[in-house]
Amino acid sequence: MKTMPVLNTIKKRLSAFALGVVDLVVRFKRTTEKMFLPWDKWVKPEGSIAREKLFSRFPRYLKEPAGSVRCGEGWYPLVWDLCTAIEAMEHLGMPRIGHFKAEERLGGLFVRVESGSFIVKELARDAEHRAAAICEECGEPGSLQLGHGFAKTLCQLHAAQRKPHKVKTVPIPENLATQRPKLLFLDTEFTDFDYPQLISIALVAESGESYYAELENGWSREGCSAFVVEKVLPQLTGGEFFQESGYAARRLREWLAGFGVPIRVVTDAPGYDWVLMLDLLHHELPPNLYPTPLNFYSESLPELRPLLKQAHDDACRDLSPHHALQDAEALREAWEVMKEHLHPAILRQYLKL
Ligand SMILES: [Zn+2]
Repeated sequence: MKTMPVLNTIKKRLSAFALGVVDLVVRFKRTTEKMFLPWDKWVKPEGSIAREKLFSRFPRYLKEPAGSVRCGEGWYPLVWDLCTAIEAMEHLGMPRIGHFKAEERLGGLFVRVESGSFIVKELARDAEHRAAAICEECGEPGSLQLGHGFAKTLCQLHAAQRKPHKVKTVPIPENLATQRPKLLFLDTEFTDFDYPQLISIALVAESGESYYAELENGWSREGCSAFVVEKVLPQLTGGEFFQESGYAARRLREWLAGFGVPIRVVTDAPGYDWVLMLDLLHHELPPNLYPTPLNFYSESLPELRPLLKQAHDDACRDLSPHHALQDAEALREAWEVMKEHLHPAILRQYLKL
């Protein structure tokens, strides 16, 4: 009865000893690398590591089809350390490893390395354990964050960014407040309500111009609620609209600035749409954009609400819902209908001008 715990203890000590030896070898190797090798290619960078850098340092392990890395940048240093250790072991005569795979699943890092070596398996497991306390996005200390259909190891900052937050009220700059702004109707699709991640974003101007993008990064199918998987994802347009988020953000900033006159966003879900749009733009707004959106269902004029609701429902009937561009278009149509029923003086009051 007593042999199992004893065996486990021995195994644990052996594993700790082996990892300690590997650590020494890796440190020794790093020191010699610093002395003999062009440092910019070989030495592990401080802080964040670019994907290209990681892959060009360990092409034999990581480049497809030999291996694959599917996780956030925050965990790249762990992958780098693991590869360094494996490389050191190979230099000491260990047979070369086979397929290497590191991927994020439900907030955890899974590492699979094809190798007969006990130490390689221990190293892989060690990397997995370390990942559980490191933000997958930035590499700072983190912990598992759970939401509906969402699991990710994140630091407090990145966890807060994933949660919906209240829209901040920012005073409107004087240069903007002097004339009636041109209105832009905003709609977004996102993964779920607990940890919304932007999937697609559309803006349609009063005058008809539109902007639309679907993001190819920053969200995953696994993070989507069942509703989104069923109703939103099948409607994505794809093609030229499928864009890397940095590119989509630059395009949006240029599009907004291009109006050249004060503009203000109208949304029926400021807590989500507006917040996600600011996120995409990294809070860098063009100077002609109002720093706060106009709530389509403004609380300041509750009597307008039924009228807006009716107009919105009518507009939605002709368009397919849950496609951001169609929904933004519906919002604009509803606005037009509402305007016809509204005295200009009331409208000005609504717009607070
Ligand atoms: Zn972080």
